[in-house]
Amino acid sequence: MKFSNTLIPTLRDIPANAEIASHILLLRGGFIRQLGSGLYTWLPLGVRVLQKIERIVREEINKTDAHEVLMPFVQPGELWKESDRWEVMGPDLLRMQDRHENDYCLSPTHEEVITDLFRKNVKSYRQLPCTLYQIATKFRDEIRPRFGVLRSREFIMKDGYSFHIDEKSLHATYLAMHDAYSSILSRLALDFRSVEAHGGVIGDDENREFHVLADTGEDAIAYSKVSSYASNLEKAEAVATGDVATASETLTKVSTPNIRTINGLVECLDVPIERTVKTLIVQGRDSPIGLVLRGDHELHEIKAARLPNVLSPLTFTKESEVRHHVGCNVGSIGPVQLQIPYYVDRSVAVLSDFVCGANEDDFHLTGVNWNRDESLQSAAIQDLRKVVEGDPAPDGSGPLSIQRGIEVGHIFKLGTKYSHTMNATVLDERGESVNVLMGCYGLGVTRLAAAVIEQKHDEIGPLWPLEIAPAQVHLVALNVPRSSEVVNAANHVYEQLTTQGIEVLYDDRNERPGVKFADADLIGIPYRITIGERGLKENTVEYQHQRELKVDVSLDQVVPTLLQDLG
Ligand code: ATP
Ligand code: MG
Repeated sequence: MKFSNTLIPTLRDIPANAEIASHILLLRGGFIRQLGSGLYTWLPLGVRVLQKIERIVREEINKTDAHEVLMPFVQPGELWKESDRWEVMGPDLLRMQDRHENDYCLSPTHEEVITDLFRKNVKSYRQLPCTLYQIATKFRDEIRPRFGVLRSREFIMKDGYSFHIDEKSLHATYLAMHDAYSSILSRLALDFRSVEAHGGVIGDDENREFHVLADTGEDAIAYSKVSSYASNLEKAEAVATGDVATASETLTKVSTPNIRTINGLVECLDVPIERTVKTLIVQGRDSPIGLVLRGDHELHEIKAARLPNVLSPLTFTKESEVRHHVGCNVGSIGPVQLQIPYYVDRSVAVLSDFVCGANEDDFHLTGVNWNRDESLQSAAIQDLRKVVEGDPAPDGSGPLSIQRGIEVGHIFKLGTKYSHTMNATVLDERGESVNVLMGCYGLGVTRLAAAVIEQKHDEIGPLWPLEIAPAQVHLVALNVPRSSEVVNAANHVYEQLTTQGIEVLYDDRNERPGVKFADADLIGIPYRITIGERGLKENTVEYQHQRELKVDVSLDQVVPTLLQDLG
């Protein structure tokens, strides 16, 4: 590929509205251009990166005996009504009508279409298991498209779907996909974790997300450094933390004028925050419900919204209503003789001699103890809080670490969720009609390209891993118009490389060396050969690998040297 006749519109300046490395560097290196909100054009270099990611994905997914298909981007609304997701998907689903006023949508995912394909074409358990996948465009009308192609509205996903007669077969494919995803991310040289997660609108069964670790990730991940335990913070189980000491203090009601917050309480009574307890009031099915947490812990709203009798989505009870039910302001509530039902977090259940509201304005209780001052039996102990760094891992392996991650893939066991609502059945061994079990497996191709940069860049530009770099080598010819020797030598090296099947970006432009070097840095191809007049006098060229190595190599040895390094 010659620089002079392709389109690589590099940018010297940091583009406005681009906040994170991948967005900035994909724009600056001339890989992508924005068309509209969440809509991007992939330019020649960007397409090369995507094609290489896709090749790796195909190679690894094909090994699981999955077969590639290609399904329509525009889907009939009827199918989504049948699965009940026409409503559930909300405004993420971009809907339209055709000239006959039939409903359609742009595909955010393909469970409906694949289930329809299956039910019309597969009739017997003998045809199972069957796994199909595609690499195709998706559209989700994201509420906040941001970070360039990390969260765009139109994007490319590898989505796969498997069909099974029993759980054992589903589990085998689920594990094979887990392995395939791990191999793909390892080949992309990424530091990643596979984590427990919530299923969202796709399903609620066993599922795992694959996260590329990066400070810019939108999710937080809790993982054990010594075991394989890893979980999205949205899901991470918080176990009891703290000492189970015996009661030693006496219950005392103390005056705390105008104290409404935990920080105020800590200051006023000079107690450690770990000994304070707060009670939040949310709407329940029959009455408001109290959620009792340690003062330093944060409520996990998703966990709370899933508790029996708590209304979902979680809604905090208005101050006036709190007073009506509890008889005090929201900052003075506590579990002792609380007149409404309440749940106690696991870490509060092991506390002794703690401080909490007295259910009376401007008063708190100190030296509170379960079983002596309030029965834990009337309160259900639940996991209510977000985990924090250093919490014990639920598998008992040691303390948890928390890091941010970019979700690049998600694998699910769907069970019969879609085969049931859409009536996808096969005849089993006994000739009986049964709903098939399904799995689905998504991997964001365009998001992966950005995730790679988030992990692999420096202050100068991207550092593409060789397997997905837009080319293997960047050939730079200096002072082209002045020196026919340079042009001849560079043309010759270019021909030798291309004959050897090596992918070259050949900067043959009539541009100043500074411009060419700056562009090469912004593009980030791993190997670089620079040919200039000065070197040629000594019959040498400059040979460089990323930022680490820069040496002079004789002109006739440069191609063999590169071939050797490429293996
Ligand atoms: P997120 O939580 O980031 O919105 P999701 O849970 O909606 O993602 P899935 O439905 O599991 O995503 O889709 C599978 C994969 O598709 C994701 O792991 C991600 O790599 C990719 N993906 C999803 N939404 C986007 C998007 N808006 N832009 C780019 N890639 C996306
Ligand atoms: Mg997901």
